[in-house]
Amino acid sequence: MRIARFSIDGNVAFGAVEGEGPDGLVLDIIKGIPYAEFELSGTKVPLSKVRLLPPVLPNKVVAIGRNYAEHAAELGNEVPDVPVAFFKPTTSVIGSGDAIEYPSFSNELHHEAELAVVIGRMCREVPRERVKDVIFGYTCANDVTARDAQKREKQWARAKGFDTSCPLGPWVETDLDPHDLTIQATVNGEQRQLGRTSDMIRSIEDLVVHITEAMTLLPGDVILTGTPAGVGPLHVGDEVAVTIEGIGTLTNKVIKRG
Ligand code: MG
Repeated sequence: MRIARFSIDGNVAFGAVEGEGPDGLVLDIIKGIPYAEFELSGTKVPLSKVRLLPPVLPNKVVAIGRNYAEHAAELGNEVPDVPVAFFKPTTSVIGSGDAIEYPSFSNELHHEAELAVVIGRMCREVPRERVKDVIFGYTCANDVTARDAQKREKQWARAKGFDTSCPLGPWVETDLDPHDLTIQATVNGEQRQLGRTSDMIRSIEDLVVHITEAMTLLPGDVILTGTPAGVGPLHVGDEVAVTIEGIGTLTNKVIKRG
């Protein structure tokens, strides 16, 4: 099931996305919250009449760096012995259709298309064989990065944590085998990144085990699983789209911060 979060007439709701094609999509409004038992209300609204919001409101976004060998190599980095984990703050999260605001302290903004894992239940020290039980679903992410600041500053809090640097969406797909999906990024319709999730160095199972060794994950928390090769610059006015097979397309425009 594809579950979107949206606003209509000033109200925020979750809905199950049904139908096909850009014009045929409707939302069946969900009664309750998606992480618990919920029902479909049968009240349907066309997707074209709503504003999509980030599909989840995470308590935290834990991101993994250098998880595809070709991407590590393109920036001159070794594949790390231990996964590199960092946080993106909740204030960095935006939805599909929202604007990425170019930060004032950077002249080198990059896109990073990533598969995002959405956690469905509170968990800590998850054994490998239980990982599938704590995952709610998957969505597309863009780990937007101020590459120059990332190189200059020892910790990546500003480079990867500025407002609007974590587009998520367009919705969460709950029925998906994530292990061998095409993942791509285009800028103004031109392909920039193309990879397969099967090329991850550490699998989703490895990452959930690694992260929950250290911290409790809560329903709605998000794990970004790293980006394939082909990262590159974004400029004001660009439209960047992240598409993952079986999920959909996350689209955002880059604007000057007002
Ligand atoms: Mg990344």
